[in-house]
Amino acid sequence: IGAAILRYLGEQVPLIYCLETEPQQGEEEQKVEQRLLYPLECFLFGEDPCVGLQKLQQYNSSSSAQQCGRVFKEGETVYSCRDCAIDPTCVLCIECFQKSVHKSHRYKMHASAGGGFCDCGDLEAWKSGPCCSQHDPGTSVTMETDECVMDPGLRERAQMLFHLLLRYMTDMLVWKETYELSEELKVKEDTYFCVLYNDEHHSYDHVIYTLQRALACDQNQAQIYTALIDKEVSIRSIPHSLTQSAYRLFIPHFIMISGPEIGLREVFCQVALEPAADNNQLCLISRLMLHDAKLYKGARKVVHELIFSSLLMDTEFKRQFAMKFTEHYKQLQEDFISDDHQRNISITALSVQIFTVPTLARQLIEEGSVIKVIIDTVMDMMMEHLDSNNRFQFQGHNPDKFFRVQVIFHDLRYILISKPSVWTETLRVKFLEGLRIFLHFLCCMQGMEEVKRQLGQHVEVEPEWEAGLTLQMQLRHILAMFQDWCSSDERVLLLAFQECHRALMSCTNQPFRSEPTDSYMCKQILHARPYKVSEEPVSIHLPISRLLAGVCLCVFQVQLNFTELAEQPLRCVVLAAQVCADMWRRNGLSLVSQVYYYQDVKCRDEMFDKDVIMLQIAASKMDPNHFLMLVLLRFELFDIFNDNCSSKDQVILKQWNRLTEEMLYLIIIIAGERYVPGISHVTKEDVTMREVIHLLCIEPMAHSSLVKSLPENESHETGLETVISKVAIFKKPGVSGHGLYELKKECLEEFNPFFYHYSRPQHSKAEEAQKKRRTQEGSDKALRPPVPPPFCPAFSNIVYLLCCDIFIHILKRIFQKAAEDRSNRWTEPMIQRVCALLFMYLLIDTDVFAFSETGSRHGKSLFHFLTKMKSLPSLKAQNDMIMWNLQMFEVVKCLREKSGPVMTRIQTQEGLSHNASDKEKAERKRKAEAAKAHRQKIMAQMSAMQKNFIESNKMLYDNVPESSSQSDTAASVDSFRMDVDESRVAVGPQQGVCSTDWEAQICILCQEEQEVQAQAPAMVLTACVQRSTVLTQNRGKTLSPKGTYPLFMPPDLAVGTHTGSCGHVMHATCWQKYFEAVQNTTRNRLHADLIIDLENGEYMCPLCKSLCNTVIPLIPVEPSKLNYFSGSCAGRFLEASWRHCHGSSGLSLSQPKFSRSITEMLGVCANTVHRVGLQTAPNDLCPYVPVMSWNTCAYTIQATDNMLQEEGKPLFGSLQNRQLSGLKALVQFSAAQRLKSSQAVIQKHFADMLAVLVPVPNVENTPSILEVDFFHLLVSVFLFTGSAYNHLYLLHLLTMAHMLQVLLASHGKHTHTLPESDATLKCKIFMLRAGVTGFCVEGVKRGVLPFLRCAALFFNCLTGVPPPEELSESPESQLHLLCSYLSLPSNLFQLFQDHRDVVTTLIKRWCENTAISKALKGEMQIIRYPHKRNRLIDLPEDYSVLLNQASHFKCPNSSDDERKHPTLCLLCGVMLCAQSPCCQEQLNGEEVGACTAHAAICGAGVGMFLRVRECEIVLMASKTRGSPYPAPYLDDYGETDPQLGRGNPLHLCPERYRKLLHMWQQHCVLEEIARSLEVLNVMFPFEWQML
Ligand SMILES: [Zn+2]
Ligand SMILES: [Zn+2]
Ligand SMILES: [Zn+2]
Ligand SMILES: [Zn+2]
Ligand SMILES: [Zn+2]
Ligand SMILES: [Zn+2]
Ligand SMILES: [Zn+2]
Repeated sequence: IGAAILRYLGEQVPLIYCLETEPQQGEEEQKVEQRLLYPLECFLFGEDPCVGLQKLQQYNSSSSAQQCGRVFKEGETVYSCRDCAIDPTCVLCIECFQKSVHKSHRYKMHASAGGGFCDCGDLEAWKSGPCCSQHDPGTSVTMETDECVMDPGLRERAQMLFHLLLRYMTDMLVWKETYELSEELKVKEDTYFCVLYNDEHHSYDHVIYTLQRALACDQNQAQIYTALIDKEVSIRSIPHSLTQSAYRLFIPHFIMISGPEIGLREVFCQVALEPAADNNQLCLISRLMLHDAKLYKGARKVVHELIFSSLLMDTEFKRQFAMKFTEHYKQLQEDFISDDHQRNISITALSVQIFTVPTLARQLIEEGSVIKVIIDTVMDMMMEHLDSNNRFQFQGHNPDKFFRVQVIFHDLRYILISKPSVWTETLRVKFLEGLRIFLHFLCCMQGMEEVKRQLGQHVEVEPEWEAGLTLQMQLRHILAMFQDWCSSDERVLLLAFQECHRALMSCTNQPFRSEPTDSYMCKQILHARPYKVSEEPVSIHLPISRLLAGVCLCVFQVQLNFTELAEQPLRCVVLAAQVCADMWRRNGLSLVSQVYYYQDVKCRDEMFDKDVIMLQIAASKMDPNHFLMLVLLRFELFDIFNDNCSSKDQVILKQWNRLTEEMLYLIIIIAGERYVPGISHVTKEDVTMREVIHLLCIEPMAHSSLVKSLPENESHETGLETVISKVAIFKKPGVSGHGLYELKKECLEEFNPFFYHYSRPQHSKAEEAQKKRRTQEGSDKALRPPVPPPFCPAFSNIVYLLCCDIFIHILKRIFQKAAEDRSNRWTEPMIQRVCALLFMYLLIDTDVFAFSETGSRHGKSLFHFLTKMKSLPSLKAQNDMIMWNLQMFEVVKCLREKSGPVMTRIQTQEGLSHNASDKEKAERKRKAEAAKAHRQKIMAQMSAMQKNFIESNKMLYDNVPESSSQSDTAASVDSFRMDVDESRVAVGPQQGVCSTDWEAQICILCQEEQEVQAQAPAMVLTACVQRSTVLTQNRGKTLSPKGTYPLFMPPDLAVGTHTGSCGHVMHATCWQKYFEAVQNTTRNRLHADLIIDLENGEYMCPLCKSLCNTVIPLIPVEPSKLNYFSGSCAGRFLEASWRHCHGSSGLSLSQPKFSRSITEMLGVCANTVHRVGLQTAPNDLCPYVPVMSWNTCAYTIQATDNMLQEEGKPLFGSLQNRQLSGLKALVQFSAAQRLKSSQAVIQKHFADMLAVLVPVPNVENTPSILEVDFFHLLVSVFLFTGSAYNHLYLLHLLTMAHMLQVLLASHGKHTHTLPESDATLKCKIFMLRAGVTGFCVEGVKRGVLPFLRCAALFFNCLTGVPPPEELSESPESQLHLLCSYLSLPSNLFQLFQDHRDVVTTLIKRWCENTAISKALKGEMQIIRYPHKRNRLIDLPEDYSVLLNQASHFKCPNSSDDERKHPTLCLLCGVMLCAQSPCCQEQLNGEEVGACTAHAAICGAGVGMFLRVRECEIVLMASKTRGSPYPAPYLDDYGETDPQLGRGNPLHLCPERYRKLLHMWQQHCVLEEIARSLEVLNVMFPFEWQML
C-alpha cells in the first residue's frame, strides 16, 4: 500500500507544483487540499476525516496542559514579563498576553525577528502565570474514561503514513545528484525541471540575466520568474529540457499534525526520531537538520514550523530532540557559518527554544556535555585566528563570518542562564570539565593583541581592535555566570579557583624580560622584576586574571604570590593612565578606543572593575609599603618620588604630573571603593543605588539614559526600578521633551567626587554641578568624599596602605612641591586628591594608629605641611578642603589624645561629625554673608556695565525687529479700544469709523521703516499657500474639474486653499533680492531640494525660518464710502443688478491707482494662490485667478474661526498679532483683485454668482442654494462689488439664503420646536406658504452662527471697525452681538418679514431648482449645519491595542507572509500598507507608496500617519517631503519610544495628541517638516514618496 501512495504522490505532486505561471490566489492551496490532503486523511482515519478528527479531539480533551506554540512571523509583536519570565527569551503572543496575568505586570514588548514561538503553557518558562486563560488546563474539564485510548488501527496507519510522508519529504529535500528516483516516483516521459534557489549573494539583475540565458526566454518572462523566487514562499520549478539537474519538489503540508491532535503528534514524533535502518542510523529529523543550510528559505521555514509544532510541544520528545540537536551541534554551526541566510531562518536558531529550559539545560550538561560541545565548536572555528603564541589575532578577519561565530556565545549564555539549585556529582564533573575547556579558550585571549608604545612615528595602520572587544562583550555575561555558578557550591568553587589559578600560571604571555632587582625607598626594600608599560608590550585582554579575581572574592584562605597576580591588572591600569597622560598618542585611535571600552559601562564589570578587585586583594594581602612601591614602579614614578631623576622638558613634566594624578586616584580607588558585595557588606541594590546617585549628581536624567548608563545583567535588567524611587523624584514632561529624575536632597551627601565609574567628562561635569549647588546653598566648596562602608574582615588590611611610610612619603613629597611653588611640578588635581587621601587617612580607626607606631609622628608633619598650604595663594581653589582637613586634624588629635587607642571607630566618627558641624556652621554663616556682599557688589557692577553697553549700542537695540509691541496681542486689543465711542457696526448706514491704514512698517531685511501707501514702493508679508482639507465635511472627495468649483465652493468645503503668514514684513525689493540669493545658494546645497521646493518658489522666512511660498503685498484699501439707497431697497438693488448683468449699465469702477511694485506683487501673490490652489501650471490670464484669491480669503477666515472655536477662544482679541495682520493683508489683497483684473472677466463671474442669489428660471447649470458655501459667496460678491452696491442689503439677502439653506439641510431632522417669538411665527407662516417645511428655530440659529462669525471677522479685517467689546471677552458666540455688529436684526427671522415683498418670489425661485427636490428626496448628499469640526481620529489609551490591530492587518493587494508596515492615517483612520511594492500606486504618472497616494486624496497632499510597528508619526506634505515626529505615546517615565527600542508599555498622552491636532488645524505641518529637515540636514535622504 505504501508503494501505491508513493505512486500517487509521484503523479500528483508535479502536476500541482510544477507550473509555468504563478497560480491564482488560493488555487494551489485548493488543489493541495483536494488532491493530496483529503485522500491522505481519508486513508488515515479510514472514515470521513471530520468524524475521525472529532473522535480524536475527544481523546485530546483528557490530556494535560496545552501549549500555545504560535510561530512568530517577522515583525509580529511579542511580549515578555519582566517579573515572571525565567529569562527574556520567554515570550507570549499578543492573544495569550492579553489573556494572561502578566498584562498588569512590568512587561516589555518588541517585534519578533521571525522564527520562535509563543511560550504560553510552558511551565518552565515562567516563574508564575505560565498559562493564559485560554491555555490553562485547569479551566477545561478533564474527563478520565477508558474510551480515551487511541484506536490501534489508526495508530498503525498513522505510523505508516507519517513515516512514508516524512521519508518522502526528506528524500526530496535532501537530494543528491547521484540519487536515483525510486521506481514508484519515476515519471514516464523524460521531463526535466530547472530549480532555482534563492540566495543572498546574487542580485536581481544577475538572476534575470542567467535565466534569460538558461531558458532562452525573454526578459519579461525572466523577470516574472525572478519575482517568484524572491517571494520565497515556495519555489516553483520551471520545465525545460536543456537543464541537467532533475529535481522535484514537494513540501508536504502536515497540517493534520500541527493541530491540537496530540495523539497523532506523538506518533509523528516517534516516527521522526526513529533511527533509520541504514548503516548511518540517522533518524529522519537529523537528516533534515543536517541538511538545513542547503535548503532554500521556504523549505526551511516549513521544516522549522514542523519541528515547533510537533517535537517541541512535548517535554519528552523535546528532550530527545535536544539530545540530537546537541549531537549535531558542531556540524550545524559549521553549516551556519558558511550559510548565506540570516540566523532567524537557520536551524541553529532553535537553540533558544531548548537551551533556555532549565531542566533540559541540566540534562544536556550532564548527558550531552553541552558546555564542552559549544566551547569546542567555538574553539574550532576560531582556530584560524591563533598566532604562533597560541593567542588570538584578528587582523584581517572576515567580519561577516566572525559575526556568525559570535552567535554561538548566545547558546553558551542560554545554557548557563539558570543557576542550579541542587548540584549532583555528575553536574559538578561536567561543569568543571566545561570550565576547563572554557579556560583553555580564555588562555588564547589572555594577553592577546598586545600593543607597544610607538615612539617617534605614528602607527601606519590602525591595528584591529573591534573584534577583540566584541569578543569580550560577548563573554561578559558568560564570565559573570560562570562565577555565579562557581559561588553557588563550595566544592565547585574551590576546584574552579584552582583551575583558574593553574590556567593563569600556565599562560606564558607577557613574560618579564629581566631578573628581579631591589628598589629602595624610605628604608624599605622591594624585590621585584623590572617592567615598563611604556616600553614593553602590554594587553588589555586579561580574562583569566579577571575571572580569578571574581572567584577569589569568595575564597579567602589561600596563600598565593599576590605580587604576581596583581602584576597584569596593574599594567593594564597603568596603560590606561599613560594613555590619559597622552603618552600613547602615536599609537592612534585604536588604543584610545580600547581604553575607552575598558572603563565603559558595556565592559567595565568584567575588565576595569575586576582589575581593581584584584589590586584590592593584593593590597590586603601584601605588605602595604611593598604594594605602594610596586605601584610607584609600574607607574614609572619611583625615581621621581625618590628624587633620583629630574627633567626640564615641559612635556615630560606634564606627563609626570598626569601620571601622579592618576596614581593618587588609583590609591583613592583601592582604599575607598568598597561597593562590591564581598569587599564590604553591601547588597547589589546598594551598589545600583550608588551608581544611580552618582549619575544623577551630574544632572537630572531621563529613565532611558539612566538605563543606558547602568550595567545590565544577563536578563537585560539593571535593577533601576527597585531603587529609583528611593533616591530620586520624578519630574513629569511637558508637551515636548521627556520626564526626568532629579536626585533627592538627602542623597547629595553620598556624592563622591572620586567615584571610579565616572568618565573624565562626567567627572568634571559632576564636580562642576555640585560646586555650583554648594555655592548656591552658601556652603563651602570642599567636595568631601563620603565615609565609605567598612571593609569585610578579609579586606580590612587595605587601610594600612593609608598610614604606611611610603604613603606618607608620597603625600609629603607632593605637599613639598606645592609649598615650593614651582608651578610646573604640581597641579591642582594633585592637591585635591592628596586632600582626599588625607581625609581618608583621618578616618582610619584609632586602633590602627596604635598599631602603626609611625602614625602620630607622621600626623604631625602632615599637619605642619597642611598649615603651610593654607596660606598659599595659588591653592585658593582647594582652600576649603584644606581648611576642612585642618579642622579634622584638630578634632582627631584631640580625640586620640583624650581617649587613647581603645577608642572605637563609631565614637570617633560621632564626635567628629558633631564637633565639626558646629565649627562648620559658624564658618558657613560668615562665608555666606561675605559671599552675599560680594554678589551684591558684582551685581551693581554688572548693571552699570549693561547700561553702558546699551548706551553705546543704542542703534543695535532700536533695530531689533521683533519688538514687544509687535507681537503682543494685548497691545492690539488696546488699540481697538481707543475709539470706544465710535459705533461698533461694520456695515450699513450706522457703520463706524473705518481704519484700514497700516502703521509704518519696518523691513526685517534692511531695517528701514516705511509708510504703507498705495503709491509707495510695496511692502510685503511672508505667506504660505497650501491646499487644505481641514474643514472638509466629505473626507476623501476630490474636486472634479467638471464641477462649478472654483467659482462656487461646494458646501462640504472638500478642498480649500489656505494662506497663512508668520507676519514678517519686508520691502518687495529686499524680498526679491533675498529670494534670488536663496535660490542660488540652496541650489548648491546637498539635498536642499528636499527642504525647499525651489521650483515652486519656496523660501524660508529670513527671520523665523517658517516655510513660505509667496508674499502678500500690504495695501491700504480705501474705506468704503457707501451710497445707501433709501426705502425698501432690496428690490431696487435686484433690479439694478439685473440691469448690470445684462450689460445695460457698466459699473463705475475706479481704475487701479497702485504703484508699479504693488501691482507686480499683487500679481505674484494671485498667481501663487491660483497655481497652488488649483494645482495647475501658472497662468496669469486664467479667468479664475481673481476667484482663487477670493476663495483663499474666505477659506482662511473659516479655518481661523474653526481654530478659535476648537481652542475655545473668543472670536476677537485672541488671535496673535501675526495671524491678525496676515488675515488683514489677505482680505485687502483679495479686495484689490477687483481693481487689478480684467473687468469683463469679473463682470462675468459676478453675473454667475448673482444667479445663485437671484435665480433665472431658464438659465441652466446654476447651482442651487444647497450646492454652494455661502460664506465663500459672500466674500466673492463683496470683494467684487467694492463700494458699488448697497452692502447691507446684499448681506441681508445672503443671510436669508443661507438660513434657507440651513433649514432645507436640516429637513426631516428636527421635529421638536421651541416657543417662538412673534416675528418667527410670522416668518414661519410665511415660509410655509412658500413651501418650506421642517422648521426649527434653534437649529437654524445654531446653523447660521459660523457664517455670522466668519462674516464678522471678514468685515472687521475689511473695514477695521472695532467689534462690540463683549465679542473679545467670551468664547461663547453671542448671536445678538454678531447681529448688531453686522447690522442684522437680532431675531434673524425678522429679515424675511422685512423683505417680504422680494423674498416671496425669491424663495419660490430658490426652491424650484431640481437639485433641491432631489436632495429632499435623499437622492443627493446634504451637508448639515453647523459643520462638524474635524479632529484627528481617536487613539486607544494603551498602545498595545494598536499593535494588536496592526497584527491583524492584511495587505489588500498581496497574500504573501512578508513583513508589512501597517500605517494608520490619523485624519481618517484607515490602515495602509506602507513602504511595500505591493501597494504602490500611480500618482500623476509617478509610482508612489500607499501613504503618499492616500495623503494626496485624504489630506490634499498633507498627511499625518502613525507607523504602528515603529511607534512613530510621519508628517507628509507635497509628495517628496516628510519627516518623522514623535508619537504621542509615553511610557511611565515620560519618554517616547521610537522603533519600540525599549519596549516599555506605552500610554497615550492627550496633551501631545492635541498639539498634533493643532499643528494640523493651523496648517503648520509643512512648516514643521521644513524645520525638522533643516535641523536633521539629511545626508541620505529617505524616499518619502515611497512611504
Ligand atoms: Zn500564544
Ligand atoms: Zn496562551
Ligand atoms: Zn508576569
Ligand atoms: Zn527692506
Ligand atoms: Zn517669519
Ligand atoms: Zn486618511
Ligand atoms: Zn501591500
